[in-house]
This record gives sequence, C-alpha cells and structure tokens, in this order.
Amino acid sequence: MLKRVIAYAHELLENSVKPGETVIDGTCGNGNDSLFLSNLVGSDGNVLAFDIQEQAINNTRKLLENEAKNNVTLIQESHHKILEYLNEDQRERIGGAIFNLGYLPGSDKEIITKPESTISAIEVIGSFLKPGGIIVLVVYHGHPGGELEKEELLNHLGKYDQKKFNVVRYGFINQKNSPPFVLAIEKK
Ligand code: SAM
Repeated sequence: MLKRVIAYAHELLENSVKPGETVIDGTCGNGNDSLFLSNLVGSDGNVLAFDIQEQAINNTRKLLENEAKNNVTLIQESHHKILEYLNEDQRERIGGAIFNLGYLPGSDKEIITKPESTISAIEVIGSFLKPGGIIVLVVYHGHPGGELEKEELLNHLGKYDQKKFNVVRYGFINQKNSPPFVLAIEKK
C-alpha cells in the first residue's frame, strides 16, 4: 500500500501532468525519470532533461534511443540555467518537474547536486508552473553534502506562502541508513 519514494514521486506526476505539456527532468542521470516523463507527455509534449555530466547525458540518450523516444531535449548544463532554455511557449505552461538529487549511481560520488543551484532551478520552474502542477524532489541525504542540501531545502520550502503552494514531505521513518524522502511542491 505505502509506495516507495520514487514510485510515489512518479504517481504525483502521473496525476498532474497532461499529454502535450512541457516538463523538466532537473537531473537526468541514467535517464529513468526522463523516460517516465517522455511517456507521460506523449508525442505532442516535450521533456527538457538537464545534467552536468556527459556520462549522464550519454546514458540517458542511449536509454531513450532504445525506447525510440524523440520528445526529450538533453541539455548538458546545470539546471539553474533553465531560463535560458525555455522558449516563450514553454514559459506559459510547465506541467511539472522532477529532481532526483544526490550523485549519479555508479559514478563519481563527489559530483552532487548543491542547494543553491537546486533552489534556484525550483524558483524559476515554480514561477512558470501551471496551477495544479507539481515539482517533486527525491532527497538523498546519506552522502557527504546531502545533509546540507536537505536542511537548506527544508528551510527554504518551509517558508513558501501557503496561499500559493502546498509543500509536502513523504518518506519512511523506520528505514536504516538515511532513507531518501520526497518533497513535493504543488502550485495552487
Ligand atoms: N534521475 C536520474 C535517473 O533517473 O537515473 C538519477 C539522477 S542522480 C541521483 C543525480 C544527478 O544529478 C547526477 O547525474 C548528477 O550529475 C546530476 N547533477 C548534479 N548537479 C547538477 C546540476 N547542478 N544540474 C543538473 N544536474 C546535476
């Protein structure tokens, strides 16, 4: 009954994103979330997928090619630069976004998401998000730097105006080893 965090994050997006919309994968990594979003928005929609690592962009490209998906734009750039990559149409209505935080599994554990850039990307996306749209963050905090990102995100999002956004935390409190949790931001 109780979903694991990634499944829960995907369910939230499934319930809010509509075919034809523009959505964002803030950290494409191995491409699993990009593929998921690609299926959600369909051939009339598009996914902007960011990652700073060439390896992540290549892994995502391979996965999407195998699945014959061509509605994803891969961008090797930090997600905090997102404004430069949104055209006028896309700025009008973003359906949702996902940020799977931390490091690329199987790669350099020192290349991690950082609070300033994560928050700056969320701010931009939040300003263009459609009413009812959702940004989901999967927060891993067991690695060096993860705890800081967790604290800064909780501190920042805890101050969001409740008249404009609902912000929710979902995660297991009886799992070992700093279990990840979801932060979801819904625009009212
Ligand atoms: N969503 C991915 C998947 O489905 O496989 C997993 C993402 S992995 C946990 C985190 C990724 O964030 C890494 O690939 C890392 O390179 C990337 N990353 C770190 N800082 C970033 C930044 N400022 N902008 C974009 N990506 C970043």
